[in-house]
Amino acid sequence: IQGRKLVGYAAESAHGCVARAFDMAGLGMQALRRVPVDAAFKLDMAALQRMVAQDRTAGFEPFLVVGTAGTVDTGAIDPLADLAAFAREQGLWFHVDGAFGALACLSPAHAPALAGIEQANSIALDFHKWAQTPYDAGCVLVREEGRQAAAFAQSLAYLSREERGVAAGAPWFCDLGPDLSRGFRALKVWFTLAGFGTEGLGNVVAQCCDVARYLAERVKATPSLELLAPVTLNVVCFRVKEGAADLDTLNAELVKDLQESGIAVPSTTIVQGKLAIRAAIVNHRTTQQDIDIMLHAVLELAQKRTGAKVPYAQGQPLPV
Ligand SMILES: *Cc1c(COP(=O)(O)O)cnc(C)c1O
Repeated sequence: IQGRKLVGYAAESAHGCVARAFDMAGLGMQALRRVPVDAAFKLDMAALQRMVAQDRTAGFEPFLVVGTAGTVDTGAIDPLADLAAFAREQGLWFHVDGAFGALACLSPAHAPALAGIEQANSIALDFHKWAQTPYDAGCVLVREEGRQAAAFAQSLAYLSREERGVAAGAPWFCDLGPDLSRGFRALKVWFTLAGFGTEGLGNVVAQCCDVARYLAERVKATPSLELLAPVTLNVVCFRVKEGAADLDTLNAELVKDLQESGIAVPSTTIVQGKLAIRAAIVNHRTTQQDIDIMLHAVLELAQKRTGAKVPYAQGQPLPV
């Protein structure tokens, strides 16, 4: 390996935190290869295989592949089982970014969609997204604890481990990450688990996915709206598709109108070159009725902005 440059791989749809991690690890963002995605926004395995082979031929040292369980833009799930097999065959570390999506494992109805995640070397997930815990509560699961400590534990005179006294109980949490002094985030995570239980969190996941599917159905049934990506979990990307020459600007303005109205707080993203209204359903209190209220507001605001050129669903009563 001496002298060879480490390179890693993640889909084009991977979160910006992956490239940032490459920078922070000193490898530089260009050491992260971005793998194209297919029509369903999932990492293209054939392209990954080609890229790894090319890099090996060119003298690089592939060491890592990152799969996403629930991409930030559309909620797509990379082919995790295929990635696991490929990583094993190629001797790569297999990391899964499951920031929100990994929690879908807790829902019997949705867990099968994540098949392969159990083979990861490491999984990152957030308790502050789908697990209803207040910011911030990021979490990483590592298959082999020893490797984590090998990377982060420091042997310093003022940090000497003892058999007893306050310096007992190694490994310390500071051995498992870059922080020395650290907050007690584990407490709120514990309370969340104690309050909801894993089954309760699984129910939250299932309910959010149901609400997202309902939103997708309503969008499809409304002629002036269009769905921009398949709905895998709880993220729905849609937009108003008529009433203005510049639909990107119209939809961007509508999202700001919505946010400032206090009715709903979707975000925006770009899907296949189109600005999308992005609704990520993660709150255990969000219901179908909230979706109706949001869609009603979207259409009403669109009517206002376009001078009534955006009709409500033809032949249908107002959504609310
Ligand atoms: C939110 C998100 C992140 C960033 O996580 P934070 O812990 O909130 O900074 C990374 N990856 C994905 C897929 C996400 O959805």
